[in-house]
Amino acid sequence: MSIRPLFVGNWKMNKLRADAQSYCDKFCELLSSGPELDADIWLSVPLTCLDTVKDALAGYSGKNSDRLAVGVQNVHWLEKGAHTAEVSAQMLSDAGARFSLIGHSERRQYYGEDDEHVALRAKAAIDNGLAAVVCVGETEEQYRAGKTEQVVKQSLRTSLSSLSAEDCKLLNIAYEPVWAIGTGLAATPEIARDVHRLIRAELQELYADSGAQVRIVYGGSTNPDNISVLCQQEDVCGGLPGGASLDPETFYKLIVNGLGA
Ligand code: PEP
Repeated sequence: MSIRPLFVGNWKMNKLRADAQSYCDKFCELLSSGPELDADIWLSVPLTCLDTVKDALAGYSGKNSDRLAVGVQNVHWLEKGAHTAEVSAQMLSDAGARFSLIGHSERRQYYGEDDEHVALRAKAAIDNGLAAVVCVGETEEQYRAGKTEQVVKQSLRTSLSSLSAEDCKLLNIAYEPVWAIGTGLAATPEIARDVHRLIRAELQELYADSGAQVRIVYGGSTNPDNISVLCQQEDVCGGLPGGASLDPETFYKLIVNGLGA
């Protein structure tokens, strides 16, 4: 079975609801006038935009509409309780989210999240029917010290420690080298190929055939010009752009180029 590519646009903390609405209008216009795209296309939006984007996508029934989904950027592992400002997987699912990013490097870097939290969040997401996009990647210091393989392996093992082979149906991995995020300096295709290969080997060791089907996408300064060669690498099953997903035309172009469509 071949793996359907995935492109996830991470809006981070950007856009008011009116911007989200006009983004979706333009993006759907592009989707309807272009070719059939054999990829899942997900928008990872701020909570305040979830309803707007959900309704906008639900109201679009043109070409590629069945490929679209809206999701969020984090999820708490508990169902409910005294956790001010947190939102549970059940709540997110109830509000129309279909997936969540988990363990994005900005969460790890600025909010102290670690692989143990990631494991809890991923399990909660999947148990509540949300797809998980688990992000792993080495810092610049680790990269320069030649520790990429060791760091990614360890991070992946702990982050996935609560998941079973059955959970792989809703699991996606993003390899996002921290030094490439928002820097304009994407990983070379060779680095992406090698690390994705390593991740695939780990997934297969952990989950056998189920691990062979998990999507591994690359993120870190992707744009419409560099995505094509990155996506041509074995085991690179799509992209996770941040900056390049903020403009609908750029995101659309990135997907088209990534697919070679
Ligand atoms: C990201 O947000 O995960 C990301 C990869 O950002 P950028 O594409 O801007 O580097």
